[in-house]
Amino acid sequence: MNRSSYKGRLAPTPTGDFHLGHARTFHSAWRRAREAGGVLMLRIEDLDTQRCKAEFVEGMLADFAWMGIGWDGEPVYQSRRRSVYRAVWERLKAMDLIYPCTRSRRELRDCVRAPHEEEELREPIYPVAWRPGPGAAAAYDAPAGVTWRFRVPEGEVIRFTDARRGELAYTAGVDFGDFAVWRRDDVPAYELAVVADDLEMGITEVVRGEDLLLSTARQLLLYRALGGMPPSWCHEPLVRDENGRRLAKRYDSLSLRSFRERGVAFEALRNQ
Ligand code: GLU
Repeated sequence: MNRSSYKGRLAPTPTGDFHLGHARTFHSAWRRAREAGGVLMLRIEDLDTQRCKAEFVEGMLADFAWMGIGWDGEPVYQSRRRSVYRAVWERLKAMDLIYPCTRSRRELRDCVRAPHEEEELREPIYPVAWRPGPGAAAAYDAPAGVTWRFRVPEGEVIRFTDARRGELAYTAGVDFGDFAVWRRDDVPAYELAVVADDLEMGITEVVRGEDLLLSTARQLLLYRALGGMPPSWCHEPLVRDENGRRLAKRYDSLSLRSFRERGVAFEALRNQ
């Protein structure tokens, strides 16, 4: 890639304190942009207004300062970009690639799970038999009130190259099923918002955690549907605690805030 054309992004979701796993991913995103002589944007993924809090945005900014991470330009707030996501919903609906789903989360929880060794990649697969008949979408002129799902091409193998793991392949309908693009509570779903933004912002490389590998496969389907050029991918390994559990925002003791507040230098952690 032409070095100066690199455009990356930091894409935090401010729903809690960030931890060492986030630090690894953010630092990698920052370093890769810098090494490429490129640009790094900050996009705050605050669509879920129930769970995203201003205090977590403040904490995140303090974490970035503590890690010595800077970005270019003004931060982009997803909560201010609803019309962009809505336009993508309209396009997908016009192409009849998405459908309204009235099943509950509980019904879906009881479905057969994808057979992955990696825990993060096991998830209930939405049964094809639950898809509504053709034309179900036409009855809606707004997304509110139901979950909107993307109809995946069952059996198609989605391939991509990851900067760390090399060639990867996931099968639609086996590793992941019909996924949400718009939530029942009228919030654009993660997959749709991220693709809409990465496309519009002209992101050339996405650096994020390995827990999102299946999302990359899903998002490639959205890129194809929207006729957009996908970025390159770099998925960072997850950080686990001493019991092998993946860190989550609820583990206070390993939060970046607690390190910061105890006066621990980020460099000291990095060099361990
Ligand atoms: N906001 C997402 C997260 O915090 C990351 C999204 C992405 O990098 O695509 O897990």
